[in-house]
Amino acid sequence: MEQKRILSIGAHPDDADTYSGGLLSKLRDAGWLVRLLSLTDGSAGTYHMEEAAEEVKLQRRSEAAASGRLLGGRYDVLDYPDGRLEATLQAREHLIRYIRRFKPDVILTNRPNDYHVDHRTVSLLVQDASFLLTVPHICADTPYLMHTPAILFWADDFKKPYAHVADVIVPVSDARVDFKVQLASCHVCQYFDWMYWPDRVERIGWPREQQIADLAQRYHRAGQNQRAEVCDALAKKYGMDAERIRNVETYEISEYGGSLPAEFLSVAEAIE
Ligand SMILES: [Zn+2]
Repeated sequence: MEQKRILSIGAHPDDADTYSGGLLSKLRDAGWLVRLLSLTDGSAGTYHMEEAAEEVKLQRRSEAAASGRLLGGRYDVLDYPDGRLEATLQAREHLIRYIRRFKPDVILTNRPNDYHVDHRTVSLLVQDASFLLTVPHICADTPYLMHTPAILFWADDFKKPYAHVADVIVPVSDARVDFKVQLASCHVCQYFDWMYWPDRVERIGWPREQQIADLAQRYHRAGQNQRAEVCDALAKKYGMDAERIRNVETYEISEYGGSLPAEFLSVAEAIE
């Protein structure tokens, strides 16, 4: 049987892994091939104005590669400028060719409603690409796909025009949340520097162990909060076994994607 493939597409070099690390690692453990992609180069992700964009790009590329290695897959970072991603025809066709070459069964990405223009744009690009993946005359130099991959949006807190819908609930163990902290910790320049700026600036000087503990606390809280939001759905689906579920990730199905493979749900929805 052919190995199943999952492609997580983010706007920035720390999005595709940290938004969906629980699901990606579950699928990897079940034998799926994992691939991660950032459309922008991440060059705006610093407040150090003296730092050249080129240096930031190199650092973010190597941090993404380290996270990809932990997930056992390649983490590609494209060259679109951070904070300036646009839904151009060129970017759309670039993405169509990229997706066709990897041939994913499932794609993960942002929802189209998000605070960050790059997040909204990456979502739009994925959706604009989706139908055209199977159209032979579009990007005719790259073999077209026979089936449109399923597309899932990872969770966010935005409420307008509508809140994220938990179509797929992925139980995630505490150990796997710790693994997500490891993934995030690969992005040193983001989680231990940039993200603390400017309202928690004193944390930049903390020893690394203390910073990691702080990050772990936030990740475990987030996983438990997400679980609380879908408490009733879990009880309905799993009965008494729902009590064993400590954290979840939730995903919304894009109606522009193909259907989810049965192999996906059996792994994603398994209690661990
Ligand atoms: Zn981002």
